[in-house]
Amino acid sequence: MPHEPQSDPAAPTLHPLGQLEALAYGWLAEPELSGVQAHVAGCPSCQEFLADAEAIRSRLALLESDEPKIDILERVLRQIESN
Ligand SMILES: [Zn+2]
Repeated sequence: MPHEPQSDPAAPTLHPLGQLEALAYGWLAEPELSGVQAHVAGCPSCQEFLADAEAIRSRLALLESDEPKIDILERVLRQIESN
């Protein structure tokens, strides 16, 4: 088996998956932030992981923002009932 070098030198074998999640949630600070962003820029699999993490985050954000809407709806229904 030939020993082939990495086709993409910007993509090391170690992916900062834990830090990618932190990046998606905006929890990552310097100096890790620059390092992880530089890795993601050259690593398609981490770009995919980050897109997934961001999709999950925005879904969670939607769930969170639904709570006050339900609360308002409940109040409106109660007002209608009391009238
Ligand atoms: Zn990667």
